Amino acid sequence: MWKVLTPRKIVFGENAAQQFEYPNKSLIITTTTPDIYNKWIDYMGIKNYEIYDKVMPDPSIEIIQKIQKEYEGKEISAYIGLGGGSSMDVCKYLGKLTSIPKILIPTTFGTGAEMTTYAVVSFDHKKKLLQDESFLADAAIVDPYFLPGTPYPIMRNSACDAAAQASEAYNSRISNPLTKLFCKEAFDVLEDAIINEKRDLLPYGAMLSGIGFGNASTTLGHALSYVFSNEGTPHGYALSACTTVAHKFNKSTYYERFKRICQKLQFEPLKLKLGLDDAAEVILPDKGHLDNNPITVTKEDIVKCLDEITNTNPLS
Ligand SMILES: [Zn+2]
Repeated sequence: MWKVLTPRKIVFGENAAQQFEYPNKSLIITTTTPDIYNKWIDYMGIKNYEIYDKVMPDPSIEIIQKIQKEYEGKEISAYIGLGGGSSMDVCKYLGKLTSIPKILIPTTFGTGAEMTTYAVVSFDHKKKLLQDESFLADAAIVDPYFLPGTPYPIMRNSACDAAAQASEAYNSRISNPLTKLFCKEAFDVLEDAIINEKRDLLPYGAMLSGIGFGNASTTLGHALSYVFSNEGTPHGYALSACTTVAHKFNKSTYYERFKRICQKLQFEPLKLKLGLDDAAEVILPDKGHLDNNPITVTKEDIVKCLDEITNTNPLS
């Protein structure tokens, strides 16, 4: 038996966020500032809403509980997560706590978070990746309108993340014919968007990647990347070399194509302060990613991959 979960409603393409009919008395949750979100809200044509704009990146459970309390009894009809991953994560968790419907609208594209059952929430200052079917959006709205506001480094890292997710998940041990279909199409769209500089295709590619990997898991490339993220390298940036080396290790059909994308995006080689052996010890317990890798990975394999990432230029 195979299973694929998606949001109840997916609305996408040009003007999607403008044409959507928003429920009355929604609570918009965002990480951005009024000068930016007021323009977005004008475009979306939402009337009669409340707004909570004090969400910080890496939201904690305390902030989520605070929002829940603040709006209790105010008859909020829906949450609207408008912005990057943090706004959407807050909505996902709030939706689970209160059973109020959630509408997710990404404004930076890459994670595909609007499509998935995952949320990242901090407990005791530690980020935790949670998975729950109740995190799925009641409506996900993917509109390239928001794209031009994205600074280039964020756009580049997000594009790399989306391509890494799609190509890793394609060969994941828990992939199935339908997730493969989404991952394959996602990669084709993202490759076209990046190599041929058709930026408007990125949101659609990231959305497909979200459905694909969200139901099949990423693998070795993502597992390798977190030791670099821990030292401050952005997630998507770290995946450039990590996923390339992982694809080589796995003999993935996406190795050359993924590398070409990273070359086009001009990522620099990665540095790691932590010793390779210590880094491998950090990576090894990451069963969530490693168990889904198409090939069994040993500690020696991880050290070899890290050596290739840090002491050669895998993108050359
Ligand atoms: Zn990722």
